[in-house]
Amino acid sequence: MLFDNHGRTLDYLRLAVTDRCNLRCHYCMPEHGLDWLSRADLLTYEEMLRLCQVFVRLGIRKVRITGGEPFVRRDLLFFMKKLSKTEGLESVSITTNGVGTAQFVPELKKIGIQSVNLSLDTLDRERFFKITRRDELPRVLETLDALLEHGFSTKINAVVMHGQNDEDILPLAGLAEKLPVSVRFIEEMPFNGGDHAVQGQLFWDHRRILETLKTRWPRLEKSPDPPFSTAANYEIPGFFGKIGIIAAWTRTFCGSCNRIRMTPQGVLKTCLYDNGVLQVRDILRSGASDEELAEKLLFAFQKRPKNGWEAEKSRENAPILESMAMIGG
Ligand code: SAM
Ligand code: SF4
Repeated sequence: MLFDNHGRTLDYLRLAVTDRCNLRCHYCMPEHGLDWLSRADLLTYEEMLRLCQVFVRLGIRKVRITGGEPFVRRDLLFFMKKLSKTEGLESVSITTNGVGTAQFVPELKKIGIQSVNLSLDTLDRERFFKITRRDELPRVLETLDALLEHGFSTKINAVVMHGQNDEDILPLAGLAEKLPVSVRFIEEMPFNGGDHAVQGQLFWDHRRILETLKTRWPRLEKSPDPPFSTAANYEIPGFFGKIGIIAAWTRTFCGSCNRIRMTPQGVLKTCLYDNGVLQVRDILRSGASDEELAEKLLFAFQKRPKNGWEAEKSRENAPILESMAMIGG
């Protein structure tokens, strides 16, 4: 097993395979998009496979594919199929915006993927357009249908933003009444590629989200959180699915954080809020052996900040200007 310098287990890698996206969510990037990475900047699939093998040898058991929008990268399923055959890797999952995903759902099932996170911040077409700057709600809902039809364990992720989707909290939570989904509300983080400043004091923090849910469902109850869960989990009597609240800005879950991240250009992050701690791509391309690579990774894991606040402080003169599409969520 792999541990960091604070005794926390590390067994979960979030691997961002691209920075590109077919949406332009307000909370993630500006309207004009980002300075997209060139192909040479991106880790190749071969590099990712090698890296994952090294990670698994060190103790990683679970990989989540993310981005940018993972499905805009060509041959993604081919890569995922190979990845899921990695000996010792227990689970491969994916986070998607669902825009072009429905057509790939049967194949995802075939290659053994069991869990999919779908980002969906509103059920209202106009608000969807305002938030994502694209009119794609029907295609996302088509993906949700396909996921449920194929029996995927499905989580719906909604970022809650004051003035943008306040009215959607209750309808989104209501999806869990009839559907076997976990609807998770996420505090907005400042990773929007410089689109706008996020206030230090969030309006929709986890407490306010919880209070709002309780106005409608006073019998909402806390349920036990699985180990390493970033979400505080809740149940509503009579509901088929579950509700979760992720205090991503308040950072209440750092004490048991088991995750590391690889950005699309091959930078290791040991905390969501750090500024990248190791340029892994250059090591991979320098001719280093797997042992040399593993040694450098282990060294980085021993310098992990205690929590997101410490990580943010360690950025010194590098204010948070990056997009979540460069991090993977
Ligand atoms: N494009 C895919 C998607 O949207 O599901 C995967 C990548 S996206 C960066 C991963 C997750 O990060 C999504 O659930 C998205 O809602 C979330 N996210 C993006 N920007 C965020 C922000 N500023 N604050 C909180 N969550 C954010
Ligand atoms: Fe694209 Fe996901 Fe970022 Fe939205 S949150 S712009 S879908 S990468």
